[in-house]
Amino acid sequence: MKVPFLDLKSVNASTEDALEEAFRRVIDSGWYIQGKELEAFEAEFAEYCNVKHCIGVGNGLDAIHLLLEAYGIGPGDEVIVPSNTFIATWLAVTHCGATPVAVEPCEDTYNIDPQGIEDAITARTVAIIPVHLYGQPADMDVINNVAARHKLLVIEDAAQSQGARYHGRPTGSLGNAAATSFYPGKNLGALGDGGAVLTNNNAIAQKVRQLRNYGSPMKYQHDSVGYNSRLDELQAAFLRVKLSELDRCNARRSEIARRYTDALHGSNIQSPHVPDWTYPVWHLYVVRTTRRDQLQEHLKLHGIETIIHYPIPPHQQNCYAGIVHKPLPIAELLATEILSLPISPSMSDADVSYIIDKLKSF
Ligand SMILES: *Cc1c(COP(=O)(O)O)cnc(C)c1O
Repeated sequence: MKVPFLDLKSVNASTEDALEEAFRRVIDSGWYIQGKELEAFEAEFAEYCNVKHCIGVGNGLDAIHLLLEAYGIGPGDEVIVPSNTFIATWLAVTHCGATPVAVEPCEDTYNIDPQGIEDAITARTVAIIPVHLYGQPADMDVINNVAARHKLLVIEDAAQSQGARYHGRPTGSLGNAAATSFYPGKNLGALGDGGAVLTNNNAIAQKVRQLRNYGSPMKYQHDSVGYNSRLDELQAAFLRVKLSELDRCNARRSEIARRYTDALHGSNIQSPHVPDWTYPVWHLYVVRTTRRDQLQEHLKLHGIETIIHYPIPPHQQNCYAGIVHKPLPIAELLATEILSLPISPSMSDADVSYIIDKLKSF
């Protein structure tokens, strides 16, 4: 038996007819950039996330970058980021000329440690970017309290958490603004690149709308040195279909996660810890063991594909050589002990049983 890490063809096959219909609608419209589909998707996703504005952009990295730029963050500013996130969180800070300052995660949830944030704040700190890593919300009330005390912005990186809830409130609505990604493998994935900014702040929303479109408030007038980073009509139309399936897909992920967690109970493979105030959406199901490489090899021998998220923390990447001076032992240790098991809404019960069987024989 073979279980791929993620079979996007089968994920999208479940809504194939609606996707084809969306494709047809866009072709027939004769309008492919910044049209009715984008407008409709932005309204639908803003409502889903319980925020006033959703602004579609080219990808998740641009969403964070344009948001930081809209807030005027730049050279000389420090922005607090998790030490164990995907590189894009850091790249966005670097792209606007600011300095990423790494804070280690809590060892149980893998999300940024609020006490570590407090300790990392300097006179130059302007913002915190908590990441809802693996689909589980960071501890936002505590983070927002630290931010309020020090007058800092809170910008959520919600790229892995579409549909996740914190004390019942959707991620994307929990800080000053949020960025998300519709990369095909995300919980809400397009059939290409895409991303969005979410906020209740009218001025920031307007600024991001300009920045994504050559800094232009109206055709051939340019108020800022903007970019071309738009969510096109085709992806917006696909995303409307995918959004209507998001809760069902997340519920299926939760079922699979529950089976994994039950099966791992009492074993020496550590399952993810979920505080009772979160509703995670299991973008990834990440286990932890000191025998990680052996576990990955064992599963591979049985045809089960796993991935490490992420094998090299950002501060150890070549692109950041020499930038971070203090050691980040938790991120470095986690990188050697974590392993992501297959989890996707299209996996069958038999797939899950097979994987559980092979976890038990390890
Ligand atoms: C995927 C991801 C991004 C970047 O999104 P892209 O659309 O791939 O640019 C940013 N942050 C996190 C945490 C991600 O997982």
